[in-house]
Amino acid sequence: YVLLFRSYDAVGDILVVESLSDGLLPYRGEIGKALLRLNPGMRTVMLKTGKVAGEFRVPRLEVVAGEEKWETVHSEYGIRVKVDLSKVYYSPRLGWERFRVASSVADGETVVDMFSGVGPFSLMIAKCAMAHVYSIDLNPDAIRLLSENVSLNRLCGRVEPICGDARAAAARLGAVADRVIMNLPGRSLEFLDAAAGVLKPGGGMLHLYVFAKEDPLRGAESALRRVADLYFASYNIRGTRVVKPTAPREWQVALDVWAEPRSP
Ligand code: SAM
Repeated sequence: YVLLFRSYDAVGDILVVESLSDGLLPYRGEIGKALLRLNPGMRTVMLKTGKVAGEFRVPRLEVVAGEEKWETVHSEYGIRVKVDLSKVYYSPRLGWERFRVASSVADGETVVDMFSGVGPFSLMIAKCAMAHVYSIDLNPDAIRLLSENVSLNRLCGRVEPICGDARAAAARLGAVADRVIMNLPGRSLEFLDAAAGVLKPGGGMLHLYVFAKEDPLRGAESALRRVADLYFASYNIRGTRVVKPTAPREWQVALDVWAEPRSP
């Protein structure tokens, strides 16, 4: 079976198969059933049928074996995340990255998670530190699930879900943040103005995600350098790492940037 798949992920009790070769597609039902037999805790097998789509970054999936169910609860690094794979984005492959970021947060910080989805960054941060997190997402289903996740992880009052556009919501919050998470890799650089506006005047940390091709670390840094001076009086790239491959010769890259906004 290792030879059949490029890879598959477990999201709660759902297995998500990345892709099958054309020759194997007609056998996806049988392959799904075999995967269920090999993974006794799993209830459903899904196959990706395309790239994540639209503004809400919803995955394209079809159920190929097991129960026709889309909701599940995934556990990562001590938090529980309820997802509905027909309505929201979620990738278990970012678990380590979220833990890495959350581990760097100090007690007392205010954090703005600008594209929170169902809240895995926000929840992990609030679990790791006595921080206050504002979690913004445009997708009402993501915010509904995030609210459930806040209760599920007993983090009421520490994580505040906000449904709406990140730029407008950040403007309403004002300059409150010690740290900003920007996990919308295709467009995060377009929202640097909003991130600069929500950072405290003395500056703070940005965790910024971008897609980069070829030389990904240098590519990501130069993409940031092309626009950062517009919004920041000074900035300092403290770290760059490849988070995961996203397409042939394309990667998601994390940039940790200390930045001081220009005065308004
Ligand atoms: N941070 C989450 C995670 O790690 O699972 C979700 C990341 S997902 C790649 C990006 C999210 O940004 C989606 O949930 C989408 O609905 C949201 N989004 C897209 N455009 C937005 C906007 N203008 N304002 C706020 N959220 C937006």
